[in-house]
Amino acid sequence: MARKPTRIIEGAMFDGEIGPVSAQELIAMPESQWGLFRDRITDRHNGGEGVEARCLMCGTPVFIQSKVNNQERLPYFAHYRGGDVNCPWYNGKTKDPEQLRAVQYHGQQESFFHRAMCEKLAEVVQLDERYRKHRIDKYLPPKQNDNGRFPDIYVEWEGIGPFVIEFQLSHTFQTEISKRCIHYEREGIPLIWILSGIAPGSNIPQNFRDVIRRHRGNAFVFDHKASMASFANKTLMLSCLQMDELGELQPPVIVRFDKLFFPWNKLPYFKDRVIAPRLRLIRNTRKVWFDAFKHWDKKNYSDNMIQNALSTLPHEIPCTAVTMIAAVFSIVAEANGKPENFASGHENVKGMLNGYLMNNNGRLAPYVNLLTSLIRNTKTSGLLSGSVKSHFDRITREQATEESAEWKALKVLIPEVLDPLFRQELIYYGELPNWANPE
Ligand SMILES: [Zn+2]
Repeated sequence: MARKPTRIIEGAMFDGEIGPVSAQELIAMPESQWGLFRDRITDRHNGGEGVEARCLMCGTPVFIQSKVNNQERLPYFAHYRGGDVNCPWYNGKTKDPEQLRAVQYHGQQESFFHRAMCEKLAEVVQLDERYRKHRIDKYLPPKQNDNGRFPDIYVEWEGIGPFVIEFQLSHTFQTEISKRCIHYEREGIPLIWILSGIAPGSNIPQNFRDVIRRHRGNAFVFDHKASMASFANKTLMLSCLQMDELGELQPPVIVRFDKLFFPWNKLPYFKDRVIAPRLRLIRNTRKVWFDAFKHWDKKNYSDNMIQNALSTLPHEIPCTAVTMIAAVFSIVAEANGKPENFASGHENVKGMLNGYLMNNNGRLAPYVNLLTSLIRNTKTSGLLSGSVKSHFDRITREQATEESAEWKALKVLIPEVLDPLFRQELIYYGELPNWANPE
């Protein structure tokens, strides 16, 4: 005899602080806790004090049952008898699975889940003493855009200003995500996407990854733990899963909404897992060179620290190119408002460049194109006029190209300026350093 298909109720929404509890969260609880939930649900159902929990799919009341699996007693949600037999999560005496019916149900089930989450979040944002007002799914007239939007939840807190919460469901399309991000960025209203149904690990659908990336590698979730923490602290708190270097989500930590970073594009993050780790790596590599140049006599290429610095590069470069790197570091220091000449005894960068570009045999003569590309994209772009420009123009010898080891080395050392893709990313995230921004 064929076994009837067993469906599991993947989550339930509880009254008050308990909030949404997923099937996984329930199973992870000790029996003392899920047993208490079970008792309180039953008490309430029998007319006493307790809590109510509703199936996140169909919205009808559920209770907690248990079954023994491998000698372990595991809790799961079940619909009450007479609950919605059309619920795709219904595991009672349905005649057949009826895939089709489940599909037809889809629009409706998501709207229950969606409404339950919106109402829970609305309850939570009102716990905060700075609360002024909120709207669920109400038209928000535009200030900067042609059209308004219907944010899932719009909130105003004293001192924090307005912010918008959107729930991302598995079928939210990339274009919709993009449109909403652009809209709220223009309106100057912080926007936080709350994801549902994600767990640590790497198996995350692309449209979720898109939102996580926009939040700098942070996935925000409103789960049972976040709900409990929000009620305990009387403010909006979220579970935050951070993406590691391999693109896998780490187990969640609980974060306060008002302690997140709110960058210019209004998509907040807890820790920048996208740009910050790469900038840190670049700074660390660069520090080896800065330290070496600080003690360098500007001639001795076999200096230990210079040799050590050379080992940070992906390709071997001619030792005389060290002077060019020192010149580039001097240009960057100048652009950063901390002028220092690492390459020569000249008084300033201009003198140094002119000194090394006297003719085709000058030490910087093979790097005019490289230096031009570099300087053009920094605060020192003004150097590309006057005496330096006329020296550049006089050089006729063959130039190092982007394929040369020297250019590749500089691309690793100063990618903010010389790696066009990385530069674009920095601009996109609003993280282009000031010194790499031409005047
Ligand atoms: Zn249901």
